Amino acid sequence: MGKIREIDVSELIPLIRNACREMAMEYGCDIRDAIRQARETENERARSILDLLLQNAEIATSEQIPICQDTGMIIAFASVGQDVHFTGGSFQQALQEGVRQGYHDFALRASVVADPLYDRINTKDNTPAVIHTEITEGDKVQISLMAKGFGSENKSAVAMLTPADGEKGVIRFVLDTVKKAGPNACPPFIIGVGIGGTFEACALLSKKALLRPLQEKNSDVRYAALEDRLLQEVNALGIGPQGLHGVTTALKVQIEQMPTHIAGMPCAVNICCHVCRHAKVVI
Ligand code: SF4
Repeated sequence: MGKIREIDVSELIPLIRNACREMAMEYGCDIRDAIRQARETENERARSILDLLLQNAEIATSEQIPICQDTGMIIAFASVGQDVHFTGGSFQQALQEGVRQGYHDFALRASVVADPLYDRINTKDNTPAVIHTEITEGDKVQISLMAKGFGSENKSAVAMLTPADGEKGVIRFVLDTVKKAGPNACPPFIIGVGIGGTFEACALLSKKALLRPLQEKNSDVRYAALEDRLLQEVNALGIGPQGLHGVTTALKVQIEQMPTHIAGMPCAVNICCHVCRHAKVVI
């Protein structure tokens, strides 16, 4: 066993707070590059929309205001090294406090309601974040954060495909999901696809797939080829930037896969709008 490393949970709070600001106000370089590249192949109207998206992001960064009014719900994927011992309070509460301070201090819209079905009263500080924690080796804590807008989250879907559905079934499901999303999910999209696992595991995979930098492909050449094919077919739908037609319905399709049961092939599609906000905190 390695030497135990003590981490005071209060160290997390300013890091999470600042990550909330950064995600809301700064486009990732990979998204900016992908939009710049996409505009080269677009028709005049679609190109002008892509230019507006870039201009909007530049203004947001320079004036320190959010890129979009929907500043999302925070999802945190925390990898905690097994040689870490948290001190000074609760890890979960510190993470929530970082979110609370970030949304309050930078005047980001609070978009979370405490009860999903009945009261739907806004918690007014964008908490609670959804936290997924896994224990890893070592003495580091790494937290990947997303601020997910719900225009696109609402259009995501899970299908319990069968092994017989094969690659064709995956393609059909992804295309059907994107068609249903249409302009309402604020294209151009980044599309996360999870294949395998179980009902809930493939949904998580599809969300984790959105965290991968856009220039990286799946490390398995078969899945990398499927990512390219899906991107081509999605863009052939012609929905285009903001749904006003064009060849850039999506900037990238990212697949993550994992082992599954012999009787099934769960598949999830997590659609993300062009405001694909993520950040990483490492302690
Ligand atoms: S889906 Fe994305 S771009 Fe559309 S309103 Fe929500 S955060 Fe903004």
